[in-house]
Amino acid sequence: MNIEARRFTIDDGSRTTGSCRLCNMPIRRTMVDLGMSPLCESFRRPEERDGMEPFFPLHALVCEHCLLVQLKEYVTPDHIFTEYAYFSSYSTSWVAHAKAYCHGIAQRLGLDANSLVVELASNDGYLLQHFLPMGIPVLGVEPAANVAAVAKGKGIPTLVEFFGVALAERMVAEGQAADLIAGNNVLAQVPDLNDFVGGIRILLKPEGVCTLEFPHLERLIAENQFDTIYHEHFSYFSFHTILRMAEKHRLKVIDVEELRTHGGSLRVHLARIESTRPIAPSVPALQAREEAAGVRDMRTYDAFAAKVKRTKRRLLSVLIGAKDEGLKICGYGAPGKGNTLLNYCGIGTDFLDFTVDRNPYKHGLFTPGMHIPIHPVEAIDEAKPDYVLILPWNLKDEIVQQMRHIGDWGGKFIVPIPEATIIDPKEMPT
Ligand SMILES: [Zn+2]
Repeated sequence: MNIEARRFTIDDGSRTTGSCRLCNMPIRRTMVDLGMSPLCESFRRPEERDGMEPFFPLHALVCEHCLLVQLKEYVTPDHIFTEYAYFSSYSTSWVAHAKAYCHGIAQRLGLDANSLVVELASNDGYLLQHFLPMGIPVLGVEPAANVAAVAKGKGIPTLVEFFGVALAERMVAEGQAADLIAGNNVLAQVPDLNDFVGGIRILLKPEGVCTLEFPHLERLIAENQFDTIYHEHFSYFSFHTILRMAEKHRLKVIDVEELRTHGGSLRVHLARIESTRPIAPSVPALQAREEAAGVRDMRTYDAFAAKVKRTKRRLLSVLIGAKDEGLKICGYGAPGKGNTLLNYCGIGTDFLDFTVDRNPYKHGLFTPGMHIPIHPVEAIDEAKPDYVLILPWNLKDEIVQQMRHIGDWGGKFIVPIPEATIIDPKEMPT
């Protein structure tokens, strides 16, 4: 990546002024300041380790008007996303989740050979591939050329572009209006939220449905998932904010499901406001629960920062204790969120000898900022560490099952979030 080519936001020095990405009102209130951090997907090649590395403020603000939690945009998305290192298909449980969704929604909406399913940020085709055996036509939109190429190789037509009003208008003009639009874990990564949601409204057929999945801010706060805050995620949504966003773009939320993915996500079902689709009881129910949990109360957001600092101290004391005993620790996984955790807590190779990842694209690279080497998963069997720190804690059940043999040499897992916890595979039921 060319550092000079990046556009930096000119800051007036106060750091906490600007306008809200959704409602344009001035935004001043800090939710949590995680200090300076590199872009969490900017893994370093060996030859880059001696070079300078750009760090940006990782400072989450909350809009007091629409309650959108957001980061300022320091780097243009085309630099973040044109060569993306995240391949969805490397997570077994995520692919299974996608498959279950495809079968469920196809049945619910009665999709058939005359329908069109469009996925926004279709990645390597991990989701759309499941519609192909059902004979349902699909179209992916994916701005990262390298992952889009993998999808095309699977026979999934893919537009290598950013989605917004302009692309939606062109697609509709070309007869590509959608019966179903799927957007999983893309909303947070959209810099121009209003252009993106405006595009959804245009691309939907009159009775079409759009489902969006995104981590629920309520879970982020309740379970202390501060490491899901990183530069590539510009926005963090409560259901309250989603309802406001839908209304602003003449859409309505017709249903909402709570999912366990990514530490607790929402799947909202949107339709055009004038469509005949009724609103399910789940919508007012979740709205009421969020109200009761203090979604509108700024003290809810203020309390979060103190909890984050406590979690950092707790994790570091576990790691320091282990190193004082002369134990060997390595990481599992090199997800984006891992890099927020490692950089914020200052966990480098003084604690972790290396980390491993199932994605071969990351092997031989180093984590941004902390420069922890990334090896294939088998490196754990060779090194036989005493502790394995699970960085993608949202997949901890899957990882603990896959790696439970570390118990053979007395190895244990450390799960960092919501509070540092040690799991001994020998004490688990078989
Ligand atoms: Zn706002």
